[in-house]
Amino acid sequence: MPVRRDRLEACVTVTPMRLEPTNIQQVGDELAISWKDGTESFIKLETLRRACPCAGCGGEPDVLGNISRPHVTYAEKSFQLTGFDLVGGYALQPRWADGHSTGIYSFTYLRRLGQASG
Ligand SMILES: [Zn+2]
Repeated sequence: MPVRRDRLEACVTVTPMRLEPTNIQQVGDELAISWKDGTESFIKLETLRRACPCAGCGGEPDVLGNISRPHVTYAEKSFQLTGFDLVGGYALQPRWADGHSTGIYSFTYLRRLGQASG
């Protein structure tokens, strides 16, 4: 049975055990995240807010894959960032200009959002 060594190594490189940002900053209307593996993610603030995973916004599907999104209304300030905190070394908690700050975005989730918005 031949060992597909090249494939294994590629997997290790692309999917590191721990996903960690080395730098996070707002650039224009996007959040720019530099990851430890040398890649970067750019996420539009509007996309980020609409994907808010907190219970009130329900941006993330539950374990069964259902999205029961409550009716959420956004204002112009909803897509403006006033700051953010790092939570427990695994997530980012943005503070929005409309006072909303209960969304905790895991680094894995942020990475996925960055890929989704290209
Ligand atoms: Zn929320």
